[in-house]
Amino acid sequence: MAARTPIVGGNWKMHLDRAGARDLLRELRDELGGIEGVEVVICPPAPWLGDAADALEGTSLQVGAQNAYWLPHGAYTGEVGAAMLIGTARYILVGHSERRHLFGETNEETGRKLAAVLELGLEPILAIGELQAEREAGTTREVLREQLAAAFADVERLPEGFVVAYEPVWAIGTGLTATPEIAQSTIADVRAMVADRYGEVTAEACRIQYGGSVNAGNVTELAAQPDIDGALVGGASLDASAFATICRAVAAAAEGAA
Ligand code: PEP
Repeated sequence: MAARTPIVGGNWKMHLDRAGARDLLRELRDELGGIEGVEVVICPPAPWLGDAADALEGTSLQVGAQNAYWLPHGAYTGEVGAAMLIGTARYILVGHSERRHLFGETNEETGRKLAAVLELGLEPILAIGELQAEREAGTTREVLREQLAAAFADVERLPEGFVVAYEPVWAIGTGLTATPEIAQSTIADVRAMVADRYGEVTAEACRIQYGGSVNAGNVTELAAQPDIDGALVGGASLDASAFATICRAVAAAAEGAA
């Protein structure tokens, strides 16, 4: 199997004022600025992206945006075009479940965002995941397949190391984590779906994170699963020391597997 560099994202969601964001960025820089063996992406709220880019400059830490619009400019009050993030953010979260379920983002809109981000040469983190009712109804595979098909509708090829975040919606911000077995088997299914669309080589190089109540206590077992290539972390990313523990555990798991 091709070695994949794992990736951990810290999604701050709509938390922290500017002073709090700057404090956390300073702590992250101190804790993780020289980390190796894992790529780390910090996704602050949009107004603090510039502060993040300044604070993390010269470190191995990357800046990510939590969302972006597919068009470059125009009369779209309140939106931020993906093109406007060039030079500030390297990664852009696309299709996070809170965008889909709180703000009504459709699979098709997620597809337009994904295509735009790739076209610009930025790195998307494509988030997919099923609702609790869908898992209970046994339709998880169909839901994920549909989300991927729509996201990939206008994407002919994926860059090497493309990132998918598998995040069961019932595990996000709830304290309920998928068991390592559920996370592993669902992520293996997702990898097979990527292979169906783009072939084995692309799928093997694709990095698939698990997200959903990941914390310093449960990350080691999750990261030890062969198909799990890191984590997308919400709540625990607001605590520099917990987040650093998560990043180090992911790096150590990858090194152990190498
Ligand atoms: C997320 O925001 O993508 C997430 C997984 O949140 P949490 O870790 O808080 O469940």
